Amino acid sequence: MDELSGIVESLKSEIKTKLGPAKSIFDLWFGDLKLSSLDEECAVFTTPSPLKKNILSTKYIDIIKETLFGIIGFSVEVKIEKEGPAETKLPEKETTFDEEILLESERREKKIEEILNNPSSEKKTVLDEYTFDNFVEGTSNKFAKAACFAVANDPCVYNPLFIWGHSGLGKTHLLYAVMNHIKKNNPGLKIIYKKCETFMNELIDAIGNHETGPFKEKYRSADVLLIDDIQFISGKESTQEEFFHTFSALYESEKQIILTSDRPPMEIKHLTDRLRTRFEGGLIADVQPPSFELRTAIIRKKSDSMGLSVSNELVDYMAERLNNNIRQIEGVLKKLYAVSSLTGAEVTKESIDQIISIVDPGNVPTDIMIERILTAVSKKYGVSVEDIKSRKRNDTISNARHTAIYIIRKLTDLSLKDIGKIFDRNHATVISSIDNIGVNIRTIKNYESELEKLIKEIKDV
Ligand code: ADP
Ligand code: MG
Repeated sequence: MDELSGIVESLKSEIKTKLGPAKSIFDLWFGDLKLSSLDEECAVFTTPSPLKKNILSTKYIDIIKETLFGIIGFSVEVKIEKEGPAETKLPEKETTFDEEILLESERREKKIEEILNNPSSEKKTVLDEYTFDNFVEGTSNKFAKAACFAVANDPCVYNPLFIWGHSGLGKTHLLYAVMNHIKKNNPGLKIIYKKCETFMNELIDAIGNHETGPFKEKYRSADVLLIDDIQFISGKESTQEEFFHTFSALYESEKQIILTSDRPPMEIKHLTDRLRTRFEGGLIADVQPPSFELRTAIIRKKSDSMGLSVSNELVDYMAERLNNNIRQIEGVLKKLYAVSSLTGAEVTKESIDQIISIVDPGNVPTDIMIERILTAVSKKYGVSVEDIKSRKRNDTISNARHTAIYIIRKLTDLSLKDIGKIFDRNHATVISSIDNIGVNIRTIKNYESELEKLIKEIKDV
């Protein structure tokens, strides 16, 4: 017997005693109770029917809590859930830098469903904000945009279309643009857009309520099915099974399927081969982090459309610092706009720094990061910052210098040449320092973990 079933058995036997002779009551409500998880804060029990769940959660919750306390020795919150299919609902979570964004994306998904179900509406909607026109193009996203545009003009030219790339690089924007385009140019087509988690949760509900028929019908009636962040299907066997059938039915009747993911199909773990093969069977397009030019173009376009005035110099400064995520760029601009419209203050380097430190706490200006690295290394090796930067060559000082160079290379975007300048040396010395640390990592026990610890301390200041 494992620990959880041991605990639940003791719990049941004590509750049975407490309830006294009314054995049938005990059997009725507690007979099939299971403990599905337990940690320091919460115990989750499951029971097969919604009725039992309700009765246990209202009438018997106190006795369960109290008895459990006696067994485990500390008090926890107790939850009773209906035993579901093996897959439990996912909290609809996305890896975004900000919870606001998550909430916004959920609200948007609901709105989009309304908009798609009401094609005659003339009002401006959230969908109108995400078009091909306002998607700024650069070499990193050109191909994905072209593929989406082609599919929006002529559904099924590429089927499925699989768009992948890191978070915040415009995948959802492209899906919205496709929907927008189809809605305008081909209003008769039925479009269904779902985040993968919502698809999964709907399926779990349908199974729980014995209503899988309508679920299947709904998805199979789509002319264009868009599933956002399909990577969340990883390891979810029954969702994969159902999605496979939906996919095949749509594919065979020549309906367009568009998927996005934070990684290519090859890299989605715990995905059945048959789905992987399907995902790879159409066109795969990636979106890569934006180049400096694309970042400045996006900052200009977005600040102009907000009516936020930012000097060219500050646009470049922002583009340098916000170097891999367009969602972050947008987040910073929105906050800058909010501050400047509330206070009437101009955008300055300081206001940008302050907002970046809120939106992306790990992102600090390069000069401050270098200072932090030098100070931390100086402390660790007991060598002064002057000595680290000097030309002295005793072992401790050299080691500290190699370490500082290695960490600067790792945590900043500086070129080898620019790193060399800090130490009044050329780029060859920088390479040799980095190699030196590489050798230490490979040959000295625990060296790498010590170094990682130091890097983490520097990042977490
Ligand atoms: P993803 O789905 O890849 O995580 P999103 O599509 O949600 O990213 O993009 C994040 C934000 O950045 C959105 O508000 C989107 O409009 C904006 N964005 C992304 N790429 C571009 C682009 N090329 N041009 C204009 N805005 C963009
Ligand atoms: Mg997205």
